[in-house]
Amino acid sequence: MALSVVDLYTKILPKTNCRDCGYPTCIAFAGMVVSEKLPLKNCPHIAPDVLTDAQAELTAQYAQGKWLKKDMAAEALSQARGKAGDIPLKEIAQRVGSILEDANTSGPFQGTPHIRLPYFNTHLLATKERVTDAGGKDLTRNEQTFVYIHLAAGGTAAPSGRMKSLKEFPNTVSKVKSMESHVEAPLRKAFGGKPEALKASCEALGGTDVGDRYEAPDLAYQFRVFPRVYVTLLFWDEKDGFGADAKLMFDDTVMDHMDIEAVMFMSEHLCNRLTSTLE
Ligand code: SF4
Repeated sequence: MALSVVDLYTKILPKTNCRDCGYPTCIAFAGMVVSEKLPLKNCPHIAPDVLTDAQAELTAQYAQGKWLKKDMAAEALSQARGKAGDIPLKEIAQRVGSILEDANTSGPFQGTPHIRLPYFNTHLLATKERVTDAGGKDLTRNEQTFVYIHLAAGGTAAPSGRMKSLKEFPNTVSKVKSMESHVEAPLRKAFGGKPEALKASCEALGGTDVGDRYEAPDLAYQFRVFPRVYVTLLFWDEKDGFGADAKLMFDDTVMDHMDIEAVMFMSEHLCNRLTSTLE
């Protein structure tokens, strides 16, 4: 019989809240055991035979995934990878403007068909199972999810050159605030009074100076994130008592190539990479 948090608390644990397990209460410890596989033996006050039987029950329910805390990042990656995996690599490569490398190609995936996908100032390698950097090192799960979402999106539109802010796209109201707090505010804080540092960071990441297309901002850099996905950063430095400002603009075809969550990931990723050069 499976053991829920309540079962564990009421039937197995001593309910003394002694804290010897490192948790303030028995119920808190029970929650960690059931949802995060904390070893039951971390409570030293359970009789050995009870401990053995209860741990066996727990092991069985873990195997079924029962009551386990969901690994959201793993689930998201699995879903995105599954969607991309349903499409032939050759078709994906043509659609996203990348190269399908075959078994004869040298490099980390020699012998395995994979896509060589331009990405900022470098390139990625993607098989049906994993996405790595140019040297064959796995990207983080979130970044792999982002790449697979793009590969699976199905869009074929070439960039139009018409750049729009996030709020100009439909159904983005809930994300505009996140863009402000997670992207624009950190950029303002990091680079206010330091436009030269921002310029250097943009160029190190492969950004192209497009200042001639905009009159108002002090800096404008465009990034080719993927061959068909472009983002432009506009930056106004502190002046006359006014603070700095930063805004990301997206090609109006961007939603053809990814969903809104991926646009947010891309924006935060760009922000993190730019600001990391200051650390
Ligand atoms: S060590 Fe055991 S009895 Fe003490 S608080 Fe933790 S679970 Fe409860």
